[in-house]
Amino acid sequence: MSDHDHTDDGNGSESVHDEPRVREGHLSGDDLTAYVCTNGHATFPGHQRCPECGESQDAELDLSETRAEVVTWTTSTATPPGVREPNHLAIVEFDLDAALEASHDFTAGTVQGPVRTLAQLTTGDVESGDVVEPTYVEELREPGAGIREPDSQSWDGYRFEPVES
Ligand SMILES: [Zn+2]
Repeated sequence: MSDHDHTDDGNGSESVHDEPRVREGHLSGDDLTAYVCTNGHATFPGHQRCPECGESQDAELDLSETRAEVVTWTTSTATPPGVREPNHLAIVEFDLDAALEASHDFTAGTVQGPVRTLAQLTTGDVESGDVVEPTYVEELREPGAGIREPDSQSWDGYRFEPVES
């Protein structure tokens, strides 16, 4: 870790900013990783300090293979430059128990959710309650089509695709 642009004036206590944490070398949101605090509260994206209890969130839980359920969805026809139109978006809730079972670092039942995210869908043909799974997409936007939006952090990397039941 480096100290550059550190403005601490030396009074000893470093202020903790509760900003969504981004792993070094990764664009924000290009991977599906939840963070878990020492009391087992999971959030996505993670925070420096758990929003529930204030403990640090140091444990990582990979969600890139985890199925999720559509909570609610919408189709946007007013999309930013470079984003497909219409764009199908959903709030999805991850199957936390499945993620825990697939993980080597956690035991099912020890982590509390829900863990939800806003995500793009591969299709507009979904209903609330449908099960979807993440599929990696290299370009969620047209290459070279403008700058990243400040609020686009969960838009690049994965779309969610309905699972045939
Ligand atoms: Zn917590």
